[in-house]
Amino acid sequence: MFYLSKFLIQMKIILNNNSLYKALRPFNDVGFVPTMGSIHEGHISLIERSNRTCKKTIVSIFVNPKQFNNKKDFKNYPTNIKKDIKILKKTKKVDFLYIPKFKDIYNNNKKSNIKIANKDKILCAKYRKGHFEGVLDVMGRLTNLVNPKKIFMGKKDYQQYFLIKNYLKNKCKASIIPCKTIRNKSKIALSSRNNHLDLNGIKKASFLSKNLIKFKRNLANRKKIKQNLKIQMKYFEKFLKIKIEYLELRSIKNLKISNTVKGSRLFVAYYIDNIRLIDNF
Ligand code: AMP
Repeated sequence: MFYLSKFLIQMKIILNNNSLYKALRPFNDVGFVPTMGSIHEGHISLIERSNRTCKKTIVSIFVNPKQFNNKKDFKNYPTNIKKDIKILKKTKKVDFLYIPKFKDIYNNNKKSNIKIANKDKILCAKYRKGHFEGVLDVMGRLTNLVNPKKIFMGKKDYQQYFLIKNYLKNKCKASIIPCKTIRNKSKIALSSRNNHLDLNGIKKASFLSKNLIKFKRNLANRKKIKQNLKIQMKYFEKFLKIKIEYLELRSIKNLKISNTVKGSRLFVAYYIDNIRLIDNF
């Protein structure tokens, strides 16, 4: 019976907050997958997890202008809502697709006083000024509107997951579930931004990903970790002709710089032809 009801899932598209409220009112076990669209297998893996864990699954697509520190980046962010709807419908795992407009999210109060603490101004928070303030703001607003039991987030954006988890901790009942990073055969983490890479760019991203996986494995046996990271970063920059913003080993518990591989991840942000990509291993 359970199987049959899942099989019959018909995705309802919700375009405003009134319909959202009406659609979700009867349910108290809702899994939420917030996205910015350009749906790929990474997003689908979060949806599948939600579908397995919660009675109802809602996906949102909202490209939040407030989290872009660069107007051009916002304008160029890949969108294809028709294609997204088709893909999401086909999964038969999405109960509701919420596509709000700017006013649905920000109508009542555009201002926010969210500030990232100095200790958290590391990794992307150091280089993308205002980005996480925008992310936390929109996540607070979306969570208020959807009122989910669980929110599913990718470890690919680990710092985002980390900050959102801390931010929402005392604000709502939802638990934040971290989900594993989905990669393609070339070991590149799936990302909407990959759509902007040409063949050469894809080759470079693949080389970097494969070699960082190996590098992390070997790092366990090395002593001067900070020095090794610097040398490796310079090597990639020179060999691939790319710019690396940071390459750092940090604890997954508190994101502090780490000197041991155990319990840590290697965080990287880099530019290929002006396209900014992030990953962690
Ligand atoms: P985005 O649409 O890029 O804002 O991502 C929406 C959600 O999907 C975030 O929680 C991301 O961390 C997650 N996500 C993006 N790419 C991947 C991936 N390759 N594997 C797993 N989750 C991902």
